[in-house]
Amino acid sequence: MKYISTRGQAPVLSFEDTMLSGLARDGGLYLPETIPMLSHNEIAALNGVSYEEAAFRIMRPYLGDTFTDNEFHEIIARAYNGFGHAARAPLKQLDSGHFLLELFHGPTLAFKDFAMQLIGQLFEASLKRSGKRVCIVGATSGDTGSAAIEAFRGLEAVDVFILYPHGRVSEVQRRQMTTPSESNVHALAIDGHFDDAQARVKDMFNDFDFRDAVGLAGVNSINWARVLAQVVYYFTSAVSLGAPHRKVSFTVPTGNFGDIFAGYIAKRMGLPIDQLVVATNQNDILHRCLTTSEYKPDGVVPSISPSMDIQVSSNFERALYYAYGEDGAAVAQLMDELKAGGFSVSQGALQALQESFASGRCSEEDTSATIAATVAQSSELLCPHSAVGVKVANDLRDPATPMITLATAHPAKFPAAVEKAAGVHPPLPRAMSDLYERSERVTRVANDLDAIESLIKERLPH
Ligand SMILES: *Cc1c(COP(=O)(O)O)cnc(C)c1O
Repeated sequence: MKYISTRGQAPVLSFEDTMLSGLARDGGLYLPETIPMLSHNEIAALNGVSYEEAAFRIMRPYLGDTFTDNEFHEIIARAYNGFGHAARAPLKQLDSGHFLLELFHGPTLAFKDFAMQLIGQLFEASLKRSGKRVCIVGATSGDTGSAAIEAFRGLEAVDVFILYPHGRVSEVQRRQMTTPSESNVHALAIDGHFDDAQARVKDMFNDFDFRDAVGLAGVNSINWARVLAQVVYYFTSAVSLGAPHRKVSFTVPTGNFGDIFAGYIAKRMGLPIDQLVVATNQNDILHRCLTTSEYKPDGVVPSISPSMDIQVSSNFERALYYAYGEDGAAVAQLMDELKAGGFSVSQGALQALQESFASGRCSEEDTSATIAATVAQSSELLCPHSAVGVKVANDLRDPATPMITLATAHPAKFPAAVEKAAGVHPPLPRAMSDLYERSERVTRVANDLDAIESLIKERLPH
C-alpha cells in the first residue's frame, strides 16, 4: 500500500514513513493510493469478534509489509489493554432508534485515546526495529496533549514534550498531563494562548537544524495512522446494529474533521452508512461551508465544548481532495486561497460533499439544554461535545434508520459545564478517582522559541 499527498507534489511513501512523517513535504496530507474494500461477507463476519480482532481485520490492508500479522496483533493488544471497558467502544441506547457510541473508556477519557494509544505502540515497534529515536513535540488545548502523554509514557524510543497554554486548560486535562512520572514525558505550560503554543511548535518544525538535531516528529490529528485507528469503531458499532444487512447513520461532534473523515473511509470501504452528519458548535465553519460553499475563517468564539473550537479544520482537506475528483492541483489552489482569507467550493465539489455529509450546528444554550434533557429522559450524562452531537442528530435523523451519535469524551472531563447544565456533578471513573491527589510535574516556559528549544535539548537523554 502506497500513500499519496492531497496536493500531489510530495514523494509517495509507505505506511511506515507516512506514519513517522505526519505532514507531507508539499504541505498536503497523506491518503492511501486506493481504499481497500471489505466484502459483504467480511463485514458480516465481524459480528461477535473482539474489538481487537475487528481492528486487526479492518486496518491490516493499509499496513503493507510494515509489520507481520503477529506483530500487528500484539501492537493492537497493547494499545487497548488499558481501556476501562471490555467492549472498548460500547453502544448504549438513548431513545428508540438512537444510540450513543461511548468512546471515552480510554485512559484519558476522550476518543483520542483510540488513535493515540495505537500510534504509541506503532511508533515504538517501528523505532525499536530501526534503532532510531524521535522527539515528539505537540501543542494542545487539552485532550490531544493528555492522550499523547498517556500513550507514550514509559516507551523507550520516544520523548514527548507537550505545550499547553498556562491556566487555560481544565484541571482534569492539566492533571492528566502533569501527573505521569515517567522521565520521557514532559508537560510545558507556556505563557500565552493555544495559538502561541501552536505557533512555537510550527517554528520548531521550520527550524531545520533543531528539527534534525532532536529527530522531531508529530502526532497531531492529520497523521494518517490516527484517522485509520478511528475507522474501526464505525464498523464494530454498525455491525452490532445489523450492518451490513441494514444501513445505519452516524452523527459526529466535529472540530478538525479527523473523526468524521474516518467514517467517510469506513463507508468507502463498503460499510452501508446512510447519513454521515457533521455536528458543530457555534464555531460552525464546516456547517457553513457544507451549506453555502463558503469556507471563510472568522475567529474562534470560546464555547463549553472547547475541543471543537476550531476555525481551520485541517482534515477537511482530505474530504476536499475526493470532492474534487482526486485533483491535487485543485486542492493546492484552495489552500493558497485559504492563506489569503478563504475559498469557495465549486458547484460540482459542493454537490459531492453534500452527497457524503449532512451537517448541523448547536448553540451554547442548546448544548446545555441537551445535557439537561438527556439526563432527565435517559439517565445519560453527556459531555458538552457529545451533547452537540445528540442535538444535531435529533434534528436530522430519520426514524427508519438507526442513528449512532459518537460520545467523544466522558462528562467528568468537563465537570463545570456539565454540573451547570444538569445540576449533577459527574464523578471520575474509579481508576482515576485519585487524580486530584497525585503530585504534579510541570515546567513553566516563556513564549520564546530559543528558550523552549534549549529546554528540550537539555531534557533529552544524552
Ligand atoms: C478532538 C475532539 C473532538 C473533535 O474531533 P475531530 O476529529 O477534531 O473532529 C470532539 N470532541 C472531543 C471531546 C475531542 O477531544
